[in-house]
Amino acid sequence: MSGNSVKYLFVTGGVLSSLGKGITAASIGALLESRGIRIAMLKLDPYLNVDPGTMNPFQHGEVYVTDDGAETDLDLGHYYRYTNSPLSKASTATSGQVYETVIRKERKGDYLGKTVQVIPHVTNEIKRRILATAQQEAGTEVVIVEIGGTVGDIESLPFLEAIRQLRLSEPTSSLTIHLTYVPFLKVAGEVKTKPTQHSVQALRAIGIIPDLILCRSEFPLSEEVKEKISLFCGVPLRAVFDEPDVSCSIYEVPLTLSKQGLDVEICKLLQLADKKAELAPWEKLLESMQHPKGKVVIGIVGKYLEHRDAYKSVFEALNHAAISLGKELQIISLESDRLKEGDLGHCDGYLIPGGFGERGWEGKISAARYCRENRVPYFGLCLGMQVLLVEFARHVLELEGANSTEIDPKTPHPVISLLSEQKEAHDMGGTMRLGAYPCRIQRDTRAFDAYGKDLVHERHRHRYECNNSYRRAFESKGLVFSGILDNGTLCEIAEVKDHPWMLGAQFHPEFQSRPLMPHPLFVAFLSACKGKK
Ligand code: GLN
Repeated sequence: MSGNSVKYLFVTGGVLSSLGKGITAASIGALLESRGIRIAMLKLDPYLNVDPGTMNPFQHGEVYVTDDGAETDLDLGHYYRYTNSPLSKASTATSGQVYETVIRKERKGDYLGKTVQVIPHVTNEIKRRILATAQQEAGTEVVIVEIGGTVGDIESLPFLEAIRQLRLSEPTSSLTIHLTYVPFLKVAGEVKTKPTQHSVQALRAIGIIPDLILCRSEFPLSEEVKEKISLFCGVPLRAVFDEPDVSCSIYEVPLTLSKQGLDVEICKLLQLADKKAELAPWEKLLESMQHPKGKVVIGIVGKYLEHRDAYKSVFEALNHAAISLGKELQIISLESDRLKEGDLGHCDGYLIPGGFGERGWEGKISAARYCRENRVPYFGLCLGMQVLLVEFARHVLELEGANSTEIDPKTPHPVISLLSEQKEAHDMGGTMRLGAYPCRIQRDTRAFDAYGKDLVHERHRHRYECNNSYRRAFESKGLVFSGILDNGTLCEIAEVKDHPWMLGAQFHPEFQSRPLMPHPLFVAFLSACKGKK
């Protein structure tokens, strides 16, 4: 298939969306890595947007950013949290990107006068991207490819057709896992396998016979139900697995799957050496999640809180830090455009996540003011750092009307203004300051206490930044710029000196937090929040 020994594992989804295909694919990745297998991961998304960067968070959830500045689907965040797979622009492809490439080639005349068609031109481009995933890092043994959407959708057909073609050329180098849903019908008092049967039929009609069927369900499935699925879907009984709802945390999933031997079966089918799985770190993690000592309550003041996925990495990063401190985490969502007097004051600390536009801005400013004046821990991410600075400028520097030019272009005191490179950007897509930049950490600061090192690399996604002409004024009144872009030009971390813990980061530390390696700033923030025994 690829001219070398790389194996491909495709994860398709059936019956309905939101089954947690990303978590499942990432958990499979974690299981393979626990056996010492080197993996890479790829998410294929059927929509026509080139990337999710221009989509509203209500539509798409969080936009996850990689080191090389790709704006991607939030599933890449799961890949990062569960695995050590390389993540870059090569780890994601949308129909929009595939068509953009094909059409650009057509305009250049690369197709030499041929009619350009979905098969073979679009499918070839998809196959090229699947094969390229393995090239990110030498020694990659298995590429896990998650296909977004649900089998039966018109949109995902070219992706599935590309997989069919790939599987045809070298069947022993690849396998397909089909994730379905087996509902429990309360009125009938039984679980129903019919949707799974239909979804597998739809996959077979496209020419893909799944090797393994993984059934999401509310409860573990009985042997009888698995036998039925095996019979009707034409797979051996040992190829039917279940993935019941987890009781404690999504980080249980690798263990749930491993207990049933899913990883052993994958290794057998892909002819991978059956090394011993090292799952102790995941087991330890689960153990500390199940027995927390004390609780910490964090208020998140944002404006997309009704959409569960809009701040995915933020929620996860808080979780990782809480687990590492042995604490139970309670999150209170506070909609910033409806924030009233009295809403604040019930949490141990407040976090203001990233965001865009004017709605809810003043609510966030009042949350920052509350935290500063009452010495309550505050953590600002990207927009949250800009909020910290504007609040400080208005009420400590006494610059009336101070603002970000994103919110008020005519402000008399533009303490946050457009990055110079942004002035030339005309397109909305892919033009922000994106990806990882080196940040120099100043000694004797909260940031240094957290990181314990002088240089870090953190990922960005923004157009506005602290206006350097106000830097001295801020510093003269007790604000410390504890993180500066390595070339000295941009303020990346700001903290209030005379405060237990009030810090804002212009980057998104949440993108680099893992359950087994929590982000130091999140750990430091939660440590500063007193919490309850
Ligand atoms: N809207 C702000 C900017 O573009 C913050 C962006 C963010 O929070 N990701 O600078």
